Amino acid sequence: MKYFGAHVSASGGVENAPRNALAIGARAFALFVKNQRQWSAPPISQASAEAFRAACAECGYTPMQILPHDGYLINLGHPGEAELEKSREAFYDEMSRCEALGLDRLNFHPGSHLREISVDECLARVAESVNRALDRTRGVTAVIENTAGQGSNVGFAFEHLAAIIEMVEDKSRVGICIDTCHAFAAGYDLATAEACDRTFGELDRVVGLRYLRGMHLNDAMKGLGSRVDRHQGLGRGDLGLEVFRYIARDSRFDNMPLVLETPVEELWPEEIAMLYGFAAR
Ligand SMILES: [Zn+2]
Ligand SMILES: [Zn+2]
Repeated sequence: MKYFGAHVSASGGVENAPRNALAIGARAFALFVKNQRQWSAPPISQASAEAFRAACAECGYTPMQILPHDGYLINLGHPGEAELEKSREAFYDEMSRCEALGLDRLNFHPGSHLREISVDECLARVAESVNRALDRTRGVTAVIENTAGQGSNVGFAFEHLAAIIEMVEDKSRVGICIDTCHAFAAGYDLATAEACDRTFGELDRVVGLRYLRGMHLNDAMKGLGSRVDRHQGLGRGDLGLEVFRYIARDSRFDNMPLVLETPVEELWPEEIAMLYGFAAR
């Protein structure tokens, strides 16, 4: 089964997200489980958690169709001890929120070395951060998103994802999410079917597609290897439509959330319908 959707608003409460997703024809969705630009937020009330579960049931969303995204301030590979601790607490808080909502995965950006520590040291810190969060929670998989490699962000090379997974103790609760825009910006070609074969083949060899827990479907504003993280509407950027056709028709991407993070919300219903059109043919 193909589950296409978008990163929808949870404003007014997480319980609003499922209906926002249903309204645009989505069969999957992403959401923030707390304000993504703030360190702390009041805990999710029991009433809100129950309303979220009820709305998911009513709208037909199961956990494998939902990909929560962590906040923007968290850096699980931070070179500074105090800042690292703060990020680890915030990440644990987000994992607990997912657990409270009955969700089974949390998508996060690995982190940044801020040019103060090596890439390897940064990756080791990220893995240790994941280990700590997994120790304190149950049933939620930490899903590492590949990055565009902008600034000092790690996670742009598939080898980085593999290195983190290697250092995570509980392999059953670590996964990856591939963002098509980020991969392309990081230098992995996805512009043709042949390029997709090569790139996903490499991903399988280096990391293992068994770790794939979701995808972010975005076109890219800048070219291959630009290292610039700027999403574009499907078919409106340098990546083009072929990769989305490819994913829609390939069963390796079945039964996981495939979500848009494209910039023009008004186009989401059209983009989702187009993806379902690709899958049907
Ligand atoms: Zn992301
Ligand atoms: Zn993304």
